[in-house]
Amino acid sequence: MLQINQFISSLYISNNEIKGVVDGTEWLLAYTNYWIGTNGGLTQSNQIALTYAFSNIPLLFNQYNGTSYEPDAINNFKFSSFQFLLFHGEFLSKLDPLTQKSILDEITSLEKIELINNAVNFMNENPSATFENTKNKLIAEAIEDEIDDSKLDPCTKGVLDKLKKLNQNDIASIFEKFGIPENGTYKIQMVMGTPNNSAAIADTKWLSKNNYLITIRETYIKGTDNNQKPPTDIAVAAIIIHELIHAHFFALFDDFHNNGNNCAYDNYDCLYEKYVTKTYIGTIDAQHAQMFDNYVPKIAAILQEFKPGLSLQFYEDIAMSTMYGLQYFNDKYPKNSPDRNRIENNRNAEDSNAPRGAATPKGSPCN
Ligand SMILES: [Zn+2]
Repeated sequence: MLQINQFISSLYISNNEIKGVVDGTEWLLAYTNYWIGTNGGLTQSNQIALTYAFSNIPLLFNQYNGTSYEPDAINNFKFSSFQFLLFHGEFLSKLDPLTQKSILDEITSLEKIELINNAVNFMNENPSATFENTKNKLIAEAIEDEIDDSKLDPCTKGVLDKLKKLNQNDIASIFEKFGIPENGTYKIQMVMGTPNNSAAIADTKWLSKNNYLITIRETYIKGTDNNQKPPTDIAVAAIIIHELIHAHFFALFDDFHNNGNNCAYDNYDCLYEKYVTKTYIGTIDAQHAQMFDNYVPKIAAILQEFKPGLSLQFYEDIAMSTMYGLQYFNDKYPKNSPDRNRIENNRNAEDSNAPRGAATPKGSPCN
């Protein structure tokens, strides 16, 4: 016991800032003793963790400043960040200083502690994972979990569920593409209904901050448009992916707008201003320009994993077909050109689940 007291007091007196925090936090020493007692005593590992925790509490205890926490919540924040330091201190102390700093800098709210705790756990189990990639992956998965599909028809819901479960190129990877917004609290609802634009099969609306609505045309899904048969799962998947990318662009804009964090746009400067207009229905707009330039291979890769075993050209054609009717598409594929005919036939065959020109439907109908 004496040894524990000596060890703690040596940490306490090592630095005035630490001393100040310990003196000002009534539960800290009692909890430290409790923690040592329930974690196997003053082992070498625990000494490293304790040293790490005490050295970093002055930094972490002041990092809730961006929040409007009441005193109770501030205390919760301090307690959770101290637990985080004790639990991960030994692991963190072995990382390079810059990574340590990136991790500790993120401890700015109770929600962030939970996220960063999960990220560090993941890094612990996957030594090759970097912190940034791990953090982005977890936020992307959290957004994916936020997609509300309770008002979707069983067919579209089934396609969405399958997309969510893909291993390599699932929907979450769309959200990782640009870097991830800081506040991973976005809501996306998907419904069957009638999009605003009479020519559109689906659209995505910005409802309010961090809150988006994707509407997929009911008559298209049911196959009553022009007395066609219902579309195949490949066509529905392509539409869902396309709309989720729109939602992602809105999320990036909201992130900028809410937090003044424009790092998400570093690679595409000037585009964010165009997102502000929130109007992308038309033949020329910033969101579709970006999708056309950067996302077609990504959409194609997701489709390939969704329905493996088809030609790369086919996946690319279906991905590109979601840009149909846009000026970018028309410029690249002039009317009656062989490429355009092939893209049209491939997509139309999936839309109507019936042969078109040289194309036969490759997906499965779900109705
Ligand atoms: Zn679109």
